[in-house]
Amino acid sequence: MIPSYLQQIPHGKEKGTFLALDLGGTNLRVCEVELLGNSKWTMRQQKYKVSEALKVGEVTDLFDYIAGSVDHFLTEIGTNATEDEKLHLGFTFSFPVLQTALAAGTLINWTKGFECKNAIGKDVVQLLQDALDRKHIHVRCSALVNDTCGTLMAAAYERGDCLCGGIFGTGTNGAYVEDLAKLTKMGYSKEDLEQSKAQGLDFMVVNTEWGAFDNERKVLPFTVFDSRVDRISINPRKQAYEKMISGMYLGEVTRNVLLHLVDSQVLFSGYSTKALNAHYGLDTALMSALEAPFVPNSTESADPVKHIRSVLTSSLGFDDARVTDADCIAAARVSEIVGTRGARFAACAVAATVRQTGGDQADADGREMVFGLDGSLVEFYPRFEQRVRDALVELLGEDVTKRVKIVLAKDGSGVGAALCAQAAQAMETKGASTGK
Ligand code: ADP
Ligand code: MG
Repeated sequence: MIPSYLQQIPHGKEKGTFLALDLGGTNLRVCEVELLGNSKWTMRQQKYKVSEALKVGEVTDLFDYIAGSVDHFLTEIGTNATEDEKLHLGFTFSFPVLQTALAAGTLINWTKGFECKNAIGKDVVQLLQDALDRKHIHVRCSALVNDTCGTLMAAAYERGDCLCGGIFGTGTNGAYVEDLAKLTKMGYSKEDLEQSKAQGLDFMVVNTEWGAFDNERKVLPFTVFDSRVDRISINPRKQAYEKMISGMYLGEVTRNVLLHLVDSQVLFSGYSTKALNAHYGLDTALMSALEAPFVPNSTESADPVKHIRSVLTSSLGFDDARVTDADCIAAARVSEIVGTRGARFAACAVAATVRQTGGDQADADGREMVFGLDGSLVEFYPRFEQRVRDALVELLGEDVTKRVKIVLAKDGSGVGAALCAQAAQAMETKGASTGK
């Protein structure tokens, strides 16, 4: 787990104008967020393309481009902020970094097609700040943000409080609020802890990196299908838990089970298709389609077999004549089993967070625990939340589960990052050192 150095959670009353910068997806995104102080906010944003040349060139060229984009945003899109005050910026940098302070972290390695020279081991906040300063842009990068922490902050602002931010999209990860005294790896002394308490800084958001849980393969009940998905993935023996849960892999597990049934001659008369044979040939979104007829009151529930048949023929290339009604029901059932298993594992992370923070104890009576979740599985996979809740009842009991509030928290890298910049400012007011 990784300390975020974030020791301030919004309650919804915060006000002000902050910038957010998001690098690591398809585009570079610059946002200006205005916090209205009533749990609401407004945002202006602009996307900027990062060319292939920039992705593999000198790192200073990349950061000059980023600073130039911020400059363009401020001059062209405009700002609500007053001229003389420095704007605070939260920087979501979605690459592996070793964070050493709220506003400091060194790049461990590039991923996702980036390969800039002279960057590894450098402090990415310093790189950004230097580029901003070279252009005399009146902006200060005050927080380096992991998107799970941003998700937590966004949910907290909207709901007044939040215990955990989680992402169930392409991958999965979560961040939660922990007592400072329990973070033994930080090596705080008794005096440090006392001082933090006096400053109102006795907790910290922790980035769990839970996707990497059980990479040692000692706890989770792996099947042969999981082993196969892992073995031919680009990162074997890594992200073990994630590979049973997230969007990138659920479809692939389903595909492998279906192929096993085909090879066992019990499904589709023993025939596969080009799509089903292809590595990652079954997108997780297809599971939503296959299971649609089993969502109560859905339009597809009128004739389940007809709907599933159309999915199998149109999206997986099956020959209509070769698909029996029983094949349709079986294929949807496989999807349902893999998806339910994934949601039940997701519930384990939620339940673990509740237990670790004492929410299941008798003295926690009445305490609400907000989980701000983001990602396509939460948003679009039918029954994902219901499956999580059903598993939570098994793990935590009815009463504790009732106090778990799951809310959809979108845009951790936009409004969430801006809230991290706001938190940095508030922490400095309380006397915390944030690294700069
Ligand atoms: P990211 O985590 O990169 O921000 P998303 O949250 O959009 O991305 O999640 C993308 C993942 O969600 C993909 O792996 C995709 O297969 C899966 N996905 C997209 N739509 C659906 C859907 N309707 N049902 C289930 N999974 C979906
Ligand atoms: Mg996302």
